[in-house]
Amino acid sequence: MSTRDYLEKDYYKALDVSKTATADEIKKSYRKLARKYHPDANKGDPKAEERFKEISEAYNTLSDTKRRKEYDDARSLFGSGGFRPPGQGGAGGFPFDLGDLFGGGTGTGTTTSSGGRLGDLFGGMFGGGRPGTQTRPRRGTDVETETTLSFHDAIDGATVSLRLTGEGACPTCHGTGAKSGSMPRGCPKCQGTGQTSRNLGSYALSEPCTECRGRGLVVDDPCPDCSGSGRAMSSRTIQARIPAGVSDGQRIRLRGKGAPGERGGPAGDLYVRVHVAPHPIFGRSAANLTVTVPVTFTEAALGAEIKVPSLRGVPVSVRIPAGTPSGRTFRVRGKGARRKDGTNGDLLVTVIVQVPQNLNSGARHALESFRDATAGEDPREDLLRRARQT
Ligand SMILES: [Zn+2]
Ligand SMILES: [Zn+2]
Repeated sequence: MSTRDYLEKDYYKALDVSKTATADEIKKSYRKLARKYHPDANKGDPKAEERFKEISEAYNTLSDTKRRKEYDDARSLFGSGGFRPPGQGGAGGFPFDLGDLFGGGTGTGTTTSSGGRLGDLFGGMFGGGRPGTQTRPRRGTDVETETTLSFHDAIDGATVSLRLTGEGACPTCHGTGAKSGSMPRGCPKCQGTGQTSRNLGSYALSEPCTECRGRGLVVDDPCPDCSGSGRAMSSRTIQARIPAGVSDGQRIRLRGKGAPGERGGPAGDLYVRVHVAPHPIFGRSAANLTVTVPVTFTEAALGAEIKVPSLRGVPVSVRIPAGTPSGRTFRVRGKGARRKDGTNGDLLVTVIVQVPQNLNSGARHALESFRDATAGEDPREDLLRRARQT
Protein backbone atom coordinates (compact mmCIF):
# COMPACT_ATOMS: atom_id res chain seq x y z
CA MET A 1 0.00 0.00 0.00
CA SER A 2 1.28 3.46 -0.73
CA THR A 3 1.16 6.35 1.68
CA ARG A 4 -1.67 7.72 -0.36
CA ASP A 5 -3.59 4.49 0.28
CA TYR A 6 -3.22 5.02 3.99
CA LEU A 7 -4.78 8.40 3.76
CA GLU A 8 -7.41 7.75 1.15
CA LYS A 9 -8.65 4.36 2.22
CA ASP A 10 -11.17 3.88 4.96
CA TYR A 11 -10.06 0.73 6.69
CA TYR A 12 -12.92 0.82 9.16
CA LYS A 13 -15.40 0.84 6.34
CA ALA A 14 -13.47 -1.94 4.59
CA LEU A 15 -13.78 -4.16 7.65
CA ASP A 16 -17.37 -3.12 8.31
CA VAL A 17 -16.64 -1.91 11.85
CA SER A 18 -16.98 1.39 13.65
CA LYS A 19 -14.02 3.66 14.40
CA THR A 20 -14.33 2.70 18.05
CA ALA A 21 -14.40 -1.05 17.44
CA THR A 22 -12.40 -3.21 19.83
CA ALA A 23 -9.51 -5.37 18.65
CA ASP A 24 -11.74 -8.39 19.10
CA GLU A 25 -14.53 -6.96 16.99
CA ILE A 26 -12.06 -6.11 14.26
CA LYS A 27 -10.62 -9.59 14.29
CA LYS A 28 -14.02 -11.21 14.22
CA SER A 29 -15.26 -9.10 11.35
CA TYR A 30 -12.03 -9.63 9.46
CA ARG A 31 -12.21 -13.40 9.78
CA LYS A 32 -15.79 -13.44 8.58
CA LEU A 33 -15.09 -11.21 5.58
CA ALA A 34 -11.78 -12.87 4.70
CA ARG A 35 -13.45 -16.24 4.56
CA LYS A 36 -16.25 -14.87 2.43
CA TYR A 37 -14.01 -13.16 -0.10
CA HIS A 38 -11.01 -15.47 -0.05
CA PRO A 39 -9.82 -16.19 -3.63
CA ASP A 40 -10.03 -19.94 -3.05
CA ALA A 41 -13.74 -19.58 -2.46
CA ASN A 42 -14.26 -17.14 -5.33
CA LYS A 43 -12.23 -18.54 -8.17
CA GLY A 44 -12.03 -16.18 -11.11
CA ASP A 45 -14.06 -13.40 -9.51
CA PRO A 46 -11.91 -10.28 -9.74
CA LYS A 47 -14.35 -8.25 -7.62
CA ALA A 48 -14.07 -10.67 -4.71
CA GLU A 49 -10.32 -10.69 -5.14
CA GLU A 50 -10.22 -6.89 -5.01
CA ARG A 51 -12.39 -6.89 -1.92
CA PHE A 52 -10.22 -9.55 -0.28
CA LYS A 53 -7.12 -7.43 -0.81
CA GLU A 54 -8.90 -4.44 0.64
CA ILE A 55 -9.91 -6.44 3.72
CA SER A 56 -6.42 -7.87 4.21
CA GLU A 57 -4.85 -4.49 3.83
CA ALA A 58 -7.24 -2.92 6.31
CA TYR A 59 -6.72 -5.69 8.84
CA ASN A 60 -2.97 -5.50 8.40
CA THR A 61 -3.14 -2.00 9.82
CA LEU A 62 -6.06 -2.08 12.24
CA SER A 63 -5.02 -5.30 13.96
CA ASP A 64 -1.79 -3.74 15.13
CA THR A 65 -2.34 -1.30 17.99
CA LYS A 66 0.57 0.90 17.04
CA ARG A 67 -0.29 1.00 13.34
CA ARG A 68 -3.91 1.61 14.06
CA LYS A 69 -3.01 4.63 16.18
CA GLU A 70 -0.71 5.91 13.46
CA TYR A 71 -3.42 5.44 10.90
CA ASP A 72 -5.97 7.23 13.07
CA ASP A 73 -3.50 10.03 13.76
CA ALA A 74 -2.59 10.43 10.10
CA ARG A 75 -6.21 10.68 9.09
CA SER A 76 -7.15 13.16 11.78
CA LEU A 77 -4.01 15.14 10.95
CA PHE A 78 -4.37 15.24 7.19
CA GLY A 79 -8.04 14.56 6.84
CA SER A 80 -9.28 11.63 4.85
CA GLY A 81 -8.98 11.70 1.12
CA GLY A 82 -7.40 14.00 -1.37
CA PHE A 83 -4.39 14.88 0.70
CA ARG A 84 -1.46 16.33 -1.22
CA PRO A 85 1.78 17.04 0.56
CA PRO A 86 2.86 20.67 0.51
CA GLY A 87 4.91 21.70 -2.49
CA GLN A 88 3.95 18.70 -4.56
CA GLY A 89 1.11 20.34 -6.41
CA GLY A 90 -1.38 18.24 -8.34
CA ALA A 91 -1.56 14.53 -8.64
CA GLY A 92 2.12 13.76 -8.39
CA GLY A 93 3.58 10.92 -6.42
CA PHE A 94 4.35 11.08 -2.74
CA PRO A 95 7.87 12.10 -1.85
CA PHE A 96 8.01 10.05 1.30
CA ASP A 97 7.36 6.50 2.26
CA LEU A 98 5.49 4.56 4.87
CA GLY A 99 8.56 4.46 7.04
CA ASP A 100 8.68 8.23 7.22
CA LEU A 101 5.07 8.66 8.09
CA PHE A 102 4.15 5.64 10.04
CA GLY A 103 7.38 4.16 11.25
CA GLY A 104 8.01 0.53 10.57
CA GLY A 105 11.59 1.13 9.52
CA THR A 106 14.53 1.25 11.84
CA GLY A 107 15.62 4.49 13.41
CA THR A 108 12.15 5.90 13.77
CA GLY A 109 11.57 4.32 17.12
CA THR A 110 8.27 2.88 16.01
CA THR A 111 9.34 -0.52 14.80
CA THR A 112 6.41 -2.83 15.22
CA SER A 113 6.78 -6.22 16.71
CA SER A 114 4.65 -8.18 14.40
CA GLY A 115 5.54 -11.85 14.24
CA GLY A 116 2.22 -12.86 15.70
CA ARG A 117 0.22 -10.57 13.51
CA LEU A 118 1.80 -11.83 10.31
CA GLY A 119 1.39 -15.40 11.38
CA ASP A 120 -2.20 -14.60 12.12
CA LEU A 121 -2.86 -13.13 8.75
CA PHE A 122 -0.78 -15.19 6.40
CA GLY A 123 0.67 -18.15 8.17
CA GLY A 124 -2.20 -19.53 10.16
CA MET A 125 -4.98 -18.91 7.79
CA PHE A 126 -3.59 -19.12 4.30
CA GLY A 127 -0.50 -21.20 4.59
CA GLY A 128 2.42 -18.83 4.29
CA GLY A 129 3.12 -15.81 2.20
CA ARG A 130 4.37 -12.33 2.46
CA PRO A 131 2.93 -9.17 3.82
CA GLY A 132 2.25 -6.46 1.31
CA THR A 133 -1.28 -7.29 0.34
CA GLN A 134 -1.02 -4.52 -2.20
CA THR A 135 0.66 -6.85 -4.66
CA ARG A 136 -1.34 -9.23 -6.80
CA PRO A 137 -1.71 -12.98 -6.16
CA ARG A 138 1.17 -14.79 -7.75
CA ARG A 139 1.09 -18.17 -9.45
CA GLY A 140 3.54 -20.68 -8.01
CA THR A 141 6.50 -21.66 -10.15
CA ASP A 142 6.60 -24.82 -12.25
CA VAL A 143 8.70 -27.60 -10.79
CA GLU A 144 10.61 -30.37 -12.59
CA THR A 145 11.45 -33.73 -11.17
CA GLU A 146 11.97 -37.29 -12.34
CA THR A 147 10.94 -40.75 -11.31
CA THR A 148 11.67 -44.32 -12.35
CA LEU A 149 8.82 -46.77 -12.84
CA SER A 150 8.92 -50.52 -13.18
CA PHE A 151 7.95 -51.87 -16.60
CA HIS A 152 4.61 -53.03 -15.26
CA ASP A 153 3.81 -49.75 -13.46
CA ALA A 154 4.53 -47.82 -16.65
CA ILE A 155 1.93 -49.89 -18.43
CA ASP A 156 -0.67 -49.92 -15.68
CA GLY A 157 -0.07 -46.45 -14.23
CA ALA A 158 1.06 -45.93 -10.66
CA THR A 159 0.92 -43.56 -7.73
CA VAL A 160 4.42 -42.51 -6.80
CA SER A 161 5.90 -40.50 -3.93
CA LEU A 162 7.90 -37.58 -5.22
CA ARG A 163 10.21 -35.59 -3.01
CA LEU A 164 10.21 -32.02 -4.24
CA THR A 165 12.74 -29.44 -3.25
CA GLY A 166 11.74 -25.89 -3.95
CA GLU A 167 11.70 -22.33 -2.88
CA GLY A 168 9.03 -21.25 -0.44
CA ALA A 169 8.43 -18.67 2.23
CA CYS A 170 11.27 -18.57 4.77
CA PRO A 171 9.93 -20.24 7.93
CA THR A 172 11.99 -18.01 10.23
CA CYS A 173 10.52 -14.69 9.08
CA HIS A 174 7.28 -16.05 7.54
CA GLY A 175 8.45 -14.68 4.22
CA THR A 176 8.78 -11.07 5.27
CA GLY A 177 12.57 -11.12 4.94
CA ALA A 178 12.83 -9.02 8.08
CA LYS A 179 14.61 -10.03 11.26
CA SER A 180 12.36 -11.23 14.05
CA GLY A 181 10.79 -8.23 15.78
CA SER A 182 11.10 -5.94 12.78
CA MET A 183 8.99 -5.32 9.69
CA PRO A 184 9.81 -4.60 6.09
CA ARG A 185 8.68 -1.16 5.02
CA GLY A 186 7.13 0.07 1.81
CA CYS A 187 9.77 0.69 -0.83
CA PRO A 188 10.36 4.45 -1.07
CA LYS A 189 11.36 4.30 -4.72
CA CYS A 190 8.21 2.66 -6.05
CA GLN A 191 5.98 3.51 -3.09
CA GLY A 192 5.26 -0.13 -2.48
CA THR A 193 3.95 -0.96 -5.93
CA GLY A 194 7.03 -2.92 -7.01
CA GLN A 195 6.89 -1.15 -10.37
CA THR A 196 8.53 1.99 -11.60
CA SER A 197 7.74 3.71 -14.85
CA ARG A 198 10.17 5.36 -17.16
CA ASN A 199 9.00 8.00 -19.59
CA LEU A 200 10.01 7.30 -23.15
CA GLY A 201 8.67 10.35 -24.94
CA SER A 202 5.04 9.70 -25.65
CA TYR A 203 4.63 6.59 -23.54
CA ALA A 204 5.81 5.21 -20.24
CA LEU A 205 7.53 1.90 -19.75
CA SER A 206 6.68 0.04 -16.57
CA GLU A 207 9.39 -2.15 -15.11
CA PRO A 208 10.19 -3.91 -11.84
CA CYS A 209 11.58 -1.52 -9.26
CA THR A 210 15.35 -1.86 -8.97
CA GLU A 211 15.39 -0.80 -5.32
CA CYS A 212 13.16 -3.60 -4.04
CA ARG A 213 13.42 -5.92 -7.07
CA GLY A 214 9.69 -5.80 -7.55
CA ARG A 215 8.71 -6.81 -4.03
CA GLY A 216 7.38 -3.39 -3.07
CA LEU A 217 9.08 -3.78 0.29
CA VAL A 218 12.52 -3.03 1.61
CA VAL A 219 14.08 -4.70 4.60
CA ASP A 220 16.36 -2.70 6.86
CA ASP A 221 17.17 -5.48 9.29
CA PRO A 222 17.35 -8.69 7.25
CA CYS A 223 16.36 -12.10 8.56
CA PRO A 224 19.60 -14.03 9.17
CA ASP A 225 18.25 -17.24 7.66
CA CYS A 226 17.24 -15.90 4.26
CA SER A 227 19.38 -12.74 4.13
CA GLY A 228 16.26 -10.67 3.63
CA SER A 229 14.91 -12.42 0.56
CA GLY A 230 12.00 -13.93 2.49
CA ARG A 231 12.52 -17.12 0.48
CA ALA A 232 14.04 -20.40 1.59
CA MET A 233 14.57 -23.85 0.14
CA SER A 234 12.38 -26.51 1.59
CA SER A 235 11.39 -29.99 0.59
CA ARG A 236 8.10 -31.78 0.64
CA THR A 237 6.85 -35.15 -0.48
CA ILE A 238 3.77 -35.47 -2.63
CA GLN A 239 1.82 -38.36 -4.06
CA ALA A 240 1.39 -38.16 -7.81
CA ARG A 241 -0.58 -40.34 -10.17
CA ILE A 242 1.37 -41.33 -13.28
CA PRO A 243 -1.13 -42.31 -15.98
CA ALA A 244 -1.08 -45.75 -17.58
CA GLY A 245 0.95 -46.19 -20.74
CA VAL A 246 3.86 -43.82 -20.18
CA SER A 247 7.04 -44.60 -22.06
CA ASP A 248 10.65 -44.17 -21.13
CA GLY A 249 11.77 -40.52 -21.33
CA GLN A 250 8.25 -39.10 -21.44
CA ARG A 251 7.52 -35.85 -19.58
CA ILE A 252 4.24 -35.79 -17.68
CA ARG A 253 2.58 -32.56 -16.65
CA LEU A 254 0.66 -32.58 -13.39
CA ARG A 255 -1.43 -29.46 -13.12
CA GLY A 256 -1.30 -27.59 -9.82
CA LYS A 257 1.29 -29.88 -8.25
CA GLY A 258 4.14 -27.39 -8.54
CA ALA A 259 5.16 -24.72 -6.06
CA PRO A 260 2.26 -23.22 -4.07
CA GLY A 261 1.01 -19.83 -5.23
CA GLU A 262 1.38 -16.72 -3.15
CA ARG A 263 -1.41 -14.55 -1.78
CA GLY A 264 -4.09 -16.88 -3.03
CA GLY A 265 -2.53 -17.34 -6.48
CA PRO A 266 -2.78 -20.78 -8.12
CA ALA A 267 -0.06 -23.36 -7.68
CA GLY A 268 2.39 -24.00 -10.51
CA ASP A 269 2.61 -27.23 -12.47
CA LEU A 270 4.80 -30.21 -11.84
CA TYR A 271 6.67 -31.82 -14.72
CA VAL A 272 7.80 -35.37 -14.12
CA ARG A 273 10.35 -36.97 -16.42
CA VAL A 274 9.57 -40.67 -16.33
CA HIS A 275 12.19 -43.36 -16.71
CA VAL A 276 10.96 -46.88 -17.28
CA ALA A 277 13.06 -49.76 -16.02
CA PRO A 278 13.73 -52.38 -18.72
CA HIS A 279 11.97 -55.75 -18.56
CA PRO A 280 14.06 -58.94 -18.84
CA ILE A 281 11.69 -60.41 -21.43
CA PHE A 282 9.55 -57.73 -23.01
CA GLY A 283 10.29 -54.57 -24.86
CA ARG A 284 7.89 -51.74 -25.70
CA SER A 285 7.14 -49.70 -28.76
CA ALA A 286 4.37 -47.21 -27.92
CA ALA A 287 1.41 -49.39 -26.89
CA ASN A 288 2.87 -52.52 -28.47
CA LEU A 289 4.90 -55.03 -26.51
CA THR A 290 7.70 -56.91 -28.19
CA VAL A 291 9.13 -60.30 -27.40
CA THR A 292 11.65 -62.53 -29.18
CA VAL A 293 11.19 -66.29 -28.94
CA PRO A 294 13.27 -69.21 -30.24
CA VAL A 295 11.66 -71.82 -32.51
CA THR A 296 13.15 -75.08 -33.65
CA PHE A 297 14.07 -75.71 -37.28
CA THR A 298 11.26 -78.23 -37.58
CA GLU A 299 8.67 -75.83 -36.09
CA ALA A 300 9.70 -73.23 -38.63
CA ALA A 301 9.91 -75.70 -41.49
CA LEU A 302 6.81 -77.78 -40.77
CA GLY A 303 4.66 -75.16 -39.00
CA ALA A 304 3.52 -75.36 -35.38
CA GLU A 305 1.35 -73.89 -32.70
CA ILE A 306 3.70 -72.45 -30.09
CA LYS A 307 3.15 -70.89 -26.66
CA VAL A 308 4.72 -67.49 -26.06
CA PRO A 309 4.88 -65.51 -22.79
CA SER A 310 2.55 -62.55 -22.31
CA LEU A 311 2.86 -59.71 -19.85
CA ARG A 312 0.14 -61.00 -17.54
CA GLY A 313 1.89 -64.34 -17.13
CA VAL A 314 -0.66 -66.39 -19.08
CA PRO A 315 1.01 -67.77 -22.22
CA VAL A 316 -0.68 -67.05 -25.53
CA SER A 317 -0.74 -69.34 -28.57
CA VAL A 318 0.80 -68.30 -31.86
CA ARG A 319 0.44 -70.24 -35.09
CA ILE A 320 3.68 -70.57 -37.01
CA PRO A 321 2.96 -71.49 -40.65
CA ALA A 322 5.13 -74.01 -42.43
CA GLY A 323 8.15 -72.38 -44.04
CA THR A 324 8.51 -69.51 -41.58
CA PRO A 325 11.88 -67.79 -41.96
CA SER A 326 13.94 -66.88 -38.91
CA GLY A 327 13.27 -63.27 -37.81
CA ARG A 328 9.64 -63.11 -38.93
CA THR A 329 7.34 -61.16 -36.58
CA PHE A 330 3.80 -62.23 -35.70
CA ARG A 331 1.17 -59.98 -34.23
CA VAL A 332 -1.05 -61.08 -31.34
CA ARG A 333 -3.82 -58.51 -31.21
CA GLY A 334 -4.84 -56.89 -27.94
CA LYS A 335 -2.04 -58.35 -25.83
CA GLY A 336 -0.04 -55.13 -25.55
CA ALA A 337 -0.26 -52.13 -23.24
CA ARG A 338 -3.47 -50.20 -22.71
CA ARG A 339 -3.85 -46.99 -24.71
CA LYS A 340 -5.42 -43.74 -23.48
CA ASP A 341 -8.61 -44.49 -25.42
CA GLY A 342 -9.05 -47.79 -23.59
CA THR A 343 -8.00 -50.03 -26.47
CA ASN A 344 -5.00 -52.32 -26.19
CA GLY A 345 -1.82 -52.45 -28.23
CA ASP A 346 -0.52 -55.73 -29.67
CA LEU A 347 2.10 -58.26 -28.70
CA LEU A 348 4.71 -58.49 -31.47
CA VAL A 349 6.37 -61.90 -31.45
CA THR A 350 9.61 -62.30 -33.39
CA VAL A 351 10.74 -65.88 -33.97
CA ILE A 352 14.39 -66.87 -34.25
CA VAL A 353 15.25 -70.33 -35.57
CA GLN A 354 17.43 -72.06 -33.06
CA VAL A 355 20.25 -74.33 -34.14
CA PRO A 356 20.75 -77.29 -31.76
CA GLN A 357 24.10 -77.26 -30.03
CA ASN A 358 24.13 -80.92 -29.07
CA LEU A 359 22.56 -83.78 -31.04
CA ASN A 360 21.84 -87.23 -29.74
CA SER A 361 22.49 -90.07 -32.16
CA GLY A 362 18.83 -90.36 -33.15
CA ALA A 363 18.61 -86.67 -34.00
CA ARG A 364 21.92 -86.80 -35.82
CA HIS A 365 20.75 -89.71 -37.98
CA ALA A 366 17.48 -87.95 -38.73
CA LEU A 367 19.34 -84.86 -39.84
CA GLU A 368 21.73 -86.88 -41.96
CA SER A 369 18.71 -88.43 -43.63
CA PHE A 370 17.28 -84.97 -44.16
CA ARG A 371 20.59 -83.84 -45.71
CA ASP A 372 20.59 -86.82 -48.05
CA ALA A 373 16.96 -86.17 -48.99
CA THR A 374 17.76 -82.57 -49.88
CA ALA A 375 21.07 -83.20 -51.60
CA GLY A 376 21.61 -80.96 -54.57
CA GLU A 377 19.79 -78.00 -53.03
CA ASP A 378 22.20 -75.14 -52.58
CA PRO A 379 20.64 -72.04 -50.90
CA ARG A 380 23.57 -69.93 -52.15
CA GLU A 381 23.18 -70.95 -55.78
CA ASP A 382 21.25 -67.84 -56.74
CA LEU A 383 23.77 -65.51 -55.03
CA LEU A 384 26.68 -67.15 -56.77
CA ARG A 385 24.95 -66.88 -60.13
CA ARG A 386 24.16 -63.18 -59.66
CA ALA A 387 27.70 -62.46 -58.49
CA ARG A 388 29.01 -64.00 -61.72
CA GLN A 389 26.75 -61.80 -63.84
CA THR A 390 27.90 -58.49 -62.38
ZN1 LIG B 1 13.79 -15.26 6.60
ZN1 LIG C 1 10.53 -0.54 -5.03
